[in-house]
Amino acid sequence: MTAPGTPTCPECSGPQMPDHPGGLLEIRHLITCPLLASEDATKAADYERADRRMAMVRAATATELLLIEAFGYYPPDPQITGYDSDDHPVREPAVTVTYLTPGVRRRTWTPLTRTEPTTP
Ligand SMILES: [Zn+2]
Repeated sequence: MTAPGTPTCPECSGPQMPDHPGGLLEIRHLITCPLLASEDATKAADYERADRRMAMVRAATATELLLIEAFGYYPPDPQITGYDSDDHPVREPAVTVTYLTPGVRRRTWTPLTRTEPTTP
């Protein structure tokens, strides 16, 4: 049973887990949900490339941006996520990844603004 007003996955209607330490996009997806496959791949990639003792900023994935929009927010602010071949900074909507414990990844977004007021 999903509490009224709980954001859900636009693909599988799985509910957000609002108190999850991982942040906004922790969703109880159906095992067959294509967004779950994408999110799992991102989680594995984050685990591979992050130094888990410090925060990592990377470009948000298409799936993360889709979920943020589905949950009623504008995309996160662009941050420098790398440098192009001419050494110019590349700015993209970004996410900060930190590890609360070696197995618990937290994603934060700075800042997220709602596209419309929430209804109580
Ligand atoms: Zn889903």
